[in-house]
Amino acid sequence: MISTASASASAPVAAPLAGPALRDAETWIFDLDNTLYPAECNLFEQVQRRMGEFIATTFALDAAAAAEKRKYFFHTHGTTLRGLMVEHGIDPADFLDYVHDIDLSAVAALPALAEALDRLPGRKLIYTNGTVAHADRIMRKLGVDHHFEAVFDIVASDYVPKPDMTPYRTMLQKHGVDPRGAVMVEDMARNLKPAAELGMTTIWVPTTAAWSQPDADGHVHIHHTAPDLTAFLAGLHAAPAASAG
Ligand SMILES: [Mg+2]
Repeated sequence: MISTASASASAPVAAPLAGPALRDAETWIFDLDNTLYPAECNLFEQVQRRMGEFIATTFALDAAAAAEKRKYFFHTHGTTLRGLMVEHGIDPADFLDYVHDIDLSAVAALPALAEALDRLPGRKLIYTNGTVAHADRIMRKLGVDHHFEAVFDIVASDYVPKPDMTPYRTMLQKHGVDPRGAVMVEDMARNLKPAAELGMTTIWVPTTAAWSQPDADGHVHIHHTAPDLTAFLAGLHAAPAASAG
């Protein structure tokens, strides 16, 4: 664990952006799943089911044993994929293609989100623990694909998922992002901790899922909370520039 104090020792951490400075941030970094589309779409249930199927087929296990093995990978290696790669040398592309081959009929176009993004100045990136192909499919369904200049995915992360600090640094470097002018938007509170430690301003999109919630000291890393992302972004334009303190 990297403490705020040790992060401060190497580089001063800027105060989080607020008011007009938030609206005019240089770079917006959005998580994809359960952040850009509502968690109620429940796509992760399908992904989890397909992870179970992949493990059952690969190791000739029944569904219950496959579920146990998936839990073991998750708790030992942080993700199922990492466990499959480290312990069994599984080709990550085979796994990622299989688990993301899901039905997106629950995902509807969000024209109000597209409009809010349109009015938001600054560069916009996607940072996902999924794949570019998955992100492209989702963004096209939402009708927001033209707003984002790039997707930084699990392959670009060298298969090390958020919230490990290493891929955050890689993402900033690869896309030339100054964290002090960047905003990160995420449904999983723990994924905002490295972002805040690097000097980014953070926006948490809370969901009812247990994994979305901050841990005991997690609120320290949450600068803004947006239960409705579209309303939050639209509200940035509505606020008069002079009113912010
Ligand atoms: Mg997410």
